[in-house]
Amino acid sequence: MPVRSNRKLWATLLLFVSFPVAAAIGPVTEAPVRKLRLAIILCKFRDKQLETRPAHFYKNYYTRLGTGGMADYWRDVTLGTIDLGTSEVHGWFTMSHESSEVARLVFPGGRNTLVQWGRDTAAAHGIDLGKYDGVIVVQNWGVDHGAAGNGVVIVDQNPQLLESTFIAHEMGHLFGLPHSFGENVSPCISASGEYCDAWDIMSAMNAFYYPSTFQGVSGTFGPGLNVFALRTLGGLRNGRLLSIQRHDFSDPIELSPLNQPVQSGSLYAVEIRPAYHGASILTIEYRHKADWDRGLPSDAVLIHEEKNLRSYLKRVLLAGDRYSTTAVNIEVVSIDPVSQKATVRIGTNY
Ligand SMILES: [Zn+2]
Repeated sequence: MPVRSNRKLWATLLLFVSFPVAAAIGPVTEAPVRKLRLAIILCKFRDKQLETRPAHFYKNYYTRLGTGGMADYWRDVTLGTIDLGTSEVHGWFTMSHESSEVARLVFPGGRNTLVQWGRDTAAAHGIDLGKYDGVIVVQNWGVDHGAAGNGVVIVDQNPQLLESTFIAHEMGHLFGLPHSFGENVSPCISASGEYCDAWDIMSAMNAFYYPSTFQGVSGTFGPGLNVFALRTLGGLRNGRLLSIQRHDFSDPIELSPLNQPVQSGSLYAVEIRPAYHGASILTIEYRHKADWDRGLPSDAVLIHEEKNLRSYLKRVLLAGDRYSTTAVNIEVVSIDPVSQKATVRIGTNY
């Protein structure tokens, strides 16, 4: 790009960031709904005929809003973006496999085989899985479960237990989300930082979940998503994200919390995309201890770094805290859990 154009670009950017935030983010409309149609296939082993729960339980859990299940979870944590309402539950079906065959599988690779057994069973019952965006195979017995390349297998064999934190995490993989990472942030369970963003479902089970029930069945629930996952799933369109290159510290920015009921017209996250080559992206989000996030230690503002298509939790800030590097200066001016607003100041030093 010619030098003259660059100068013009910088002039435009400086003009842009000197406006009050409400003017800078432009017109706000709600994000469009993204329909994801899943097939949930309930499968029994040939030698184990016990159906853990009736099919309507899974229909309520995976496809119906207002029940407190996964359809509500994914709508809420994507700020109304993901709609699982057209998903369908099929079964219970009996697979042409004995439970003893599971002992011959090696996990986690064997999950692929378990999903395939469910897919084959659905096909044998005339179900066209090609019309779905993803497949979840629920089996009534097993020793290992989770995401595979061809879908997700969930072992659901205890009528008294429903592992919602685990299931939401594996559904996150189904929707394309990678694990989240943390750097020098506790609690952490790996040297690489993988699973060390306890504020994000993609670090489960090292995550701030809470005990609760779904239709009388106990389990753990939450937490919601970090800003990286939310953006990946399309929940930060239409003015919900403020993307900046430079910013004046004197301009306060007000954030609404992720994973909570939508506050129409609100700003939910800031990303700092430095103009120089090779710089990573920093994001700022506000989290409120309620609903799917009720297991969090407190309200807080989180700083993440995004590099190599992964998110790294860098710092958890409370009111009055500051995160400073040679490039940025971020201060949490206030957090108001009642009005659910956090005010931050962001200054760039380049
Ligand atoms: Zn995982």
